[in-house]
Amino acid sequence: MRVSVPTIPDAVLRTANSQHRRISPAFAVERIAGFLSKGDAAVITGAGVSVDSGIRAYRGEKGSYLNPNYKLRLRSYLGYPPVRDAQPNPTHYALAALQYAAVAPHIVTQNVDGLHHKAIKHVWDEPRRNSGTLELHGTLHRVQCSHGHTIDRQIFQDMIAEVNPQWKTFLDDLERSGTRPRTNPDGDVVLPEGTRYDQFVVPDCPSCLHEKRENSMLKPEVIFFGESISKEVKDRSFEIVDSHERLFVVGTTLATFSAFRLVKHAIERRKPVMLLNVGPTRADQLLGVETIEIPAGTVMRDVVKAVLGNEAEKNTVIAEMLKSGVVKRPPDDYDDSMPRPAGL
Ligand SMILES: [Zn+2]
Repeated sequence: MRVSVPTIPDAVLRTANSQHRRISPAFAVERIAGFLSKGDAAVITGAGVSVDSGIRAYRGEKGSYLNPNYKLRLRSYLGYPPVRDAQPNPTHYALAALQYAAVAPHIVTQNVDGLHHKAIKHVWDEPRRNSGTLELHGTLHRVQCSHGHTIDRQIFQDMIAEVNPQWKTFLDDLERSGTRPRTNPDGDVVLPEGTRYDQFVVPDCPSCLHEKRENSMLKPEVIFFGESISKEVKDRSFEIVDSHERLFVVGTTLATFSAFRLVKHAIERRKPVMLLNVGPTRADQLLGVETIEIPAGTVMRDVVKAVLGNEAEKNTVIAEMLKSGVVKRPPDDYDDSMPRPAGL
């Protein structure tokens, strides 16, 4: 299958606007907690969940290694540190608490920032985290070569730095000065006009070199728009929806088909579906979805407390999760004063 381009048809936007009304936080908490208390839920999340962590909504740019593009690779190199350093926000921790308490043990996320994994890292080991959260569109924290080898992203960043000392200096200067170019969730950044990219060197895949082959076709292990999701990931996403009684969707317009069809599937299986998001979504055209229009960050901690009752305080892991999370919204605009690298 292919990931569709994320546009919502005008007709949907027009009809949806009139149907949407914001509700009070207290009423939203009651509705959501009621929904989650009636049976175990699978969770689907999208970009809206990560905005409070400073990760911007996707702006759409292709990044396939099949068409080598130094500009994109360089921008990807420069854009990774903010994604690497991003921290889970209260919504990630609230969802982690629901995972941990087995109220909503499985998350299918469209996000590639790894923040669901980060929020539960201190209590679940890697295999457990991987079975608890399915990254539908891959992850920015690994790089993949065209022969299928994978490398930890930070190790690859360090390899790039070694063969591009001038760009490493540029990146170090950016970090030191606290100046950050605008970034998208795919780790791409916007560079000043006129920046030259052609001196950027992409190192060869170490595993390919080991197999006596030079191969610098590498890219983040992310499914870009227009690319295919593996059968394995697709099957697992349906399995997760099938294995739970209900479906709770958070922070997404369901613009990508890979997530939208899971919602359709749940409805076809007569599972109750609730969607928590602000603004029109592709689910507005579906019967059988209860939409709660309020920011997740406003209500999710209280939802967990309402669902778990005393356990939310008595269970130290959950109590700690409900105190955790940093809100750091993305900067309003790109800083045009960003320095240009000398001699490039
Ligand atoms: Zn390779």
